[in-house]
Amino acid sequence: MRFTLVGTGTTIPDAARGPAGFLVEHGGASVLVDGGTGTIGRLAALGVDARTLDGGVYSHRHVDHCGDLVPLLFTMRVGADRPRHRDYPIWAGTGFQDFFDGLVGVYGKWIQPEGWKVRISELTLEGADGADLPGGVRLDTLPAVHSAGALHLSFTAPNGFRVVFSGDTGPSEALARLAAGADVLVTECAVAGADPWNSHLNPHDVAAIVAAARPKRVVLTHLYPSVDPELALAVVRATGVPTERGLDGQVLEG
Ligand SMILES: [Zn+2]
Ligand SMILES: [Zn+2]
Repeated sequence: MRFTLVGTGTTIPDAARGPAGFLVEHGGASVLVDGGTGTIGRLAALGVDARTLDGGVYSHRHVDHCGDLVPLLFTMRVGADRPRHRDYPIWAGTGFQDFFDGLVGVYGKWIQPEGWKVRISELTLEGADGADLPGGVRLDTLPAVHSAGALHLSFTAPNGFRVVFSGDTGPSEALARLAAGADVLVTECAVAGADPWNSHLNPHDVAAIVAAARPKRVVLTHLYPSVDPELALAVVRATGVPTERGLDGQVLEG
């Protein structure tokens, strides 16, 4: 399984880091995970034509995680060289169907053309859920401590290699549970100190989750400018678990 960090930034425009976006590839299938503004262009820079994607998974409905959904579906209906004919499945938390129906209310056939459909499978926000993704990767989810239908996501290849993505979240026992023993934990570290809304993690929150879960490796992402990356790395590395800051285009493979 290849897990590519397409965007390791935030909602703040940054030439080096796009908003949240990841690509899971296995068994000849490519599944987009999140996709904030500009993700399909960043995919093109990685040599991936977004029109050929086999499905999408969304951690939640905030714009820095799903802002490119309309451009993605719009581009899938154009391009005489490679028009799409097959359905596009999406997995996301409860509420995503209503969200998508609202988008269809605005854009109509431009994102829901004849000949193929966007098919949304909602995952519960009440407990554990999951799905078998195209290409044979298993998705397991637990509800995150955030809003907009947020989930923690775990991707397991048939050989057992497992990558867990926090999505956006406040301190979360569910994330520690899901990340236990994972090969890689890709986690947000959005804030420097206590978050008054309890909806994001600071470095000490991340360290507590890592200390409990003991993944083999940690990749920090989604750092807002208030977070000092070196300080954050030092705090999380104190757990003894190898930790790095993710880079756009970086590939986790196993
Ligand atoms: Zn969010
Ligand atoms: Zn976010």
